Order: sequence, then C-alpha cells, then structure tokens
Amino acid sequence: MSKTQIAILPGDGIGPEVIAEARRVLEWFVARRQLDVVLGEHPYGAGAYRRFGQVLPKATEDAIRAAHAILLGAVGGMDADAIPREARNAGGLPHVRRSLELFANLRPIITIPALYEASSLKNRVLEGVDFVIVRELIGGIYFGKPRGIETLPNGERRGFNTQTYTSSEIRRIARFAFELARSRRSQVCSVDKANVMEAGVLWREEVQALRDNEFPDIALRHLYVDNCAMQLVRAPAQFDVIVTDNIFGDILSDCAAMAAGSLGMLPSASLGPIDQNGRRAALYEPVHGSAPDIAGQGIANPLGAILSVAMMLRLSLGRPDDATLLERAVGAALALGARTPDICEPGKSPVSSSGMGAAVLRELDRLG
Ligand code: NAD
Repeated sequence: MSKTQIAILPGDGIGPEVIAEARRVLEWFVARRQLDVVLGEHPYGAGAYRRFGQVLPKATEDAIRAAHAILLGAVGGMDADAIPREARNAGGLPHVRRSLELFANLRPIITIPALYEASSLKNRVLEGVDFVIVRELIGGIYFGKPRGIETLPNGERRGFNTQTYTSSEIRRIARFAFELARSRRSQVCSVDKANVMEAGVLWREEVQALRDNEFPDIALRHLYVDNCAMQLVRAPAQFDVIVTDNIFGDILSDCAAMAAGSLGMLPSASLGPIDQNGRRAALYEPVHGSAPDIAGQGIANPLGAILSVAMMLRLSLGRPDDATLLERAVGAALALGARTPDICEPGKSPVSSSGMGAAVLRELDRLG
C-alpha cells in the first residue's frame, strides 16, 4: 500500500510563516508518535504564478490529487491582484475546492479561558462557547452564473453575480450538519436570508424537510443571517452547529473569530464526499487569509494552522488521541502565557510565530 501523502502548500503572505510552524508540529508526530506520513511541499498562489506562470502548477495539482490530505497556508494579497483574472480563476482556491468537490467546510470556534482578555467580548459572554460553522463551500454566489461586469448602453458599468442553490446541494450540506450535530449536542441552527431571497426560501424549506424526514432527534431552528451576526456577538454560547451557505459562512466565521480572540486562532477542514474506498478529499487550512499587512515580519499567529493539523489528525489520519494531545498542548502553551501580538495584552511581551511554534512543541514534549 502506498504511504499516506500530505501535500503542504504554504502559499502567500503569512502562509509560509504559519505553515512552517504547523509543519514542525507534524514532524514532531512523525518523530515521536510514529505518524507514518510523507510530507511534500508544493508551490501554490501568487509566488507560484511569478515562478511558473501558473497559480496552480501542474505538478502541484497532481500532488494534491494524489494526497490523502492537504495542508494550506493562505493565498492572495497584493501580488495576487496583479495576476490576470483568467489565471487566478484557473488555479485559485475556488477552483481547487470545486475540482476536489470539497463541499463541506468546518470551522470550529472554541473559547479558551486564557484568551478571554484577547477577545473583544466580555468574559461572561465567552463562557462555554463551543460551536462549529458548517459552510457550504462549492456553490452559491461565489460560483453562480451569470456573473461578470458589463457596460450598459448608457455607458454605465454593471457588476453582477448570481446566488443559486439546488435542492440536492442544500440537502448534502444539511445532512452533513445534522450528522455532525448527532456527535455533539444535537442542535442545528440554519442561517439564510429567506425573507428577501428565493434561494434562501428554498434553503429553509429543504433543511426543514430533511430534518423532519430523517433527523427528528435534532433540534433545528432557523435564523436570518443579519440576526445570526448579531447573536454571534451577543450570546455565542447558544450555538452548537450552524449550517449556512458559502458567502454567509465566509462572513459569519470571521465575525465569530472574535470570540476565540483572533482570526489567527481559527482552524478549518474542507471535506469532500466519502468514496467507495471510504476515503474523502480533505484540505486543512487556517480560516485567515494571507494578511499582507503583517506578512514577512514573523509575527503571525500560527495556532490556526497548528490546530488545522489537529483537525487533520482527527478527520483524515485516524489519530483522535494525537489530535487531542495537540489541542491540549496548544491550550497549555497559552495557559503558560505564550502570545503572538494579535492575542497579547497591552504591556506584555509577545512571542514570534516561531516562538509560539516552539512553545507548542515544548508542551507536546511534556504532555506526550
Ligand atoms: P486576512 O484574513 O488575511 O487578514 C484580516 C486581518 O486579520 C488582518 O489585519 C491580519 O493582519 C489579521 N490576521 C489574519 N491572520 C492572522 C494571523 N494568523 N495572525 C495575526 N493576525 C492575523 O484577510 P484580508 O486582509 O481581508 O485578505 C488578505 C488576502 O487574503 C486577500 O487577497 C484575500 O483574498 C486572501 N484570503 C485568502 C484566504 C485563504 O487563502 N483561504 C482567506 C481569506 C482571505
């Protein structure tokens, strides 16, 4: 049997900085916990375009197709804006997600008491926050056609995109969310804009029908996205599983990140359907982007990337105990005071990205 391949795509901006730390953690598991994987690093993003004329070079595409799991830093940023739109569309993240059919994007949000002070929310609001946003990742307005920018007869320009969902796309992501909820607290909140948008009306009807027919044990409620955004900062502990569409999930998860203290803290997993061999394509990445405003300074928080490795251990590599060990090591490093600038209280000394990676490795040595 071929060895388990992990394709690592550091990407752009702070991507390589956070992935360097996530890779050190993966290597720790290889060296210390007999994790039997082969790590391969591949160019992707604006840097790849500069060197090879393609955002997603053929060799990288082959590697991610062959991989059991992909670990991505981030792509985009100032350089990316200079790349022609066709080249970006041909290899950008939406293309990768769609070509691997990564329809389910999981974004867990858990508050850690050591980081309460880093959050913009009050301590009492942060207690007990532990929920997952399940974002539909390969449909909706980011992919819908028609799309474009056209010039009208009167010379004015018009930009347009199309929000579109079929019943099977909605049912697929809703089923994923209900099944996930069964392994948690059995509560799903479905988020849409059914009061204004027909695609939202269909979303709501399909989610409700699936629940009534197949998941009567799950408590389902519906929220409009504007109300959900408000609830996320008013009382985030009320949520267990939130299921929503592509654009709403994108926006709500950045908002929810504030409960965790920083966007740099959030990991994610993007999963495809399970094939006949019981395998599924899987891409793990921090929720944040390439953060051009802090790139190159060695100060990016690598914990979103490191916690994405924990998700990989649990969801793709069959190592739930190692995943828990890594999450405990991150918690212990934070409890001992390691802070990158984004989560550092005024007056305290922050550590660098590699300092945070080292703090996690020290705790792995101690706990493992
Ligand atoms: P961003 O997530 O890159 O940054 C938003 C803010 O959060 C910035 O102030 C940044 O400094 C801060 N931040 C983000 N990650 C951090 C970390 N690990 N540690 C500390 N601070 C962190 O979003 P943006 O600035 O809107 O987008 C920049 C580029 O990234 C754009 O080109 C965008 O398209 C791209 N992007 C890529 C992805 C991805 O690769 N999955 C996701 C989102 C945005």
